[in-house]
Amino acid sequence: MSTEQTYIMVKPDGVQRGLVGDIISRFEKRGYKLVGLKMATPGKDHLEKHYADLSSKAFFPGLISYMNSGPVVGMVWEGRDAVKTGRVMLGATDPLKSDPGSIRGAYALEVGRNVCHGSDTVENAQKEIKLWFPEGLNSWTSAAYNWVYEK
Ligand code: GDP
Ligand code: MG
Repeated sequence: MSTEQTYIMVKPDGVQRGLVGDIISRFEKRGYKLVGLKMATPGKDHLEKHYADLSSKAFFPGLISYMNSGPVVGMVWEGRDAVKTGRVMLGATDPLKSDPGSIRGAYALEVGRNVCHGSDTVENAQKEIKLWFPEGLNSWTSAAYNWVYEK
């Protein structure tokens, strides 16, 4: 277990459906520390870079047009095991296979409208954070630290 940073993003359907607050709240209440947050409408080229690994997939054009259909809210959360635990909090890629307590399991029914993104590895998290927050993140000490962590 280590302190990690992960890139979490509310997709355009999540923004349109008013889920931004809930998604932020779940990470905040879990004990993670917010070190970056912004709404963005970055355009096709940027979204193609974000999903470059999937460019050969048949669903890629649909994915890019979905992601380009409105603003997204990107955030970086920091804390213990943030990448793997962030993925668990999001749920499975296919919402029908997601735990009902997860974000996708609570709010989505289709893989092509699954409301949120989360980095899948520490290495990809670092790449995504650089892509979405080239200006850097915020370094601060949480007053709750000793109430969240035993050590
Ligand atoms: P994630 O890491 O759980 O988001 O999943 P992936 O990295 O495999 O895919 C990225 C995103 O592409 C997913 O969150 C879905 O929105 C979309 N996606 C993945 N697989 C499919 C698919 O089979 N069909 C469609 N329409 N979209 C998909
Ligand atoms: Mg992925």
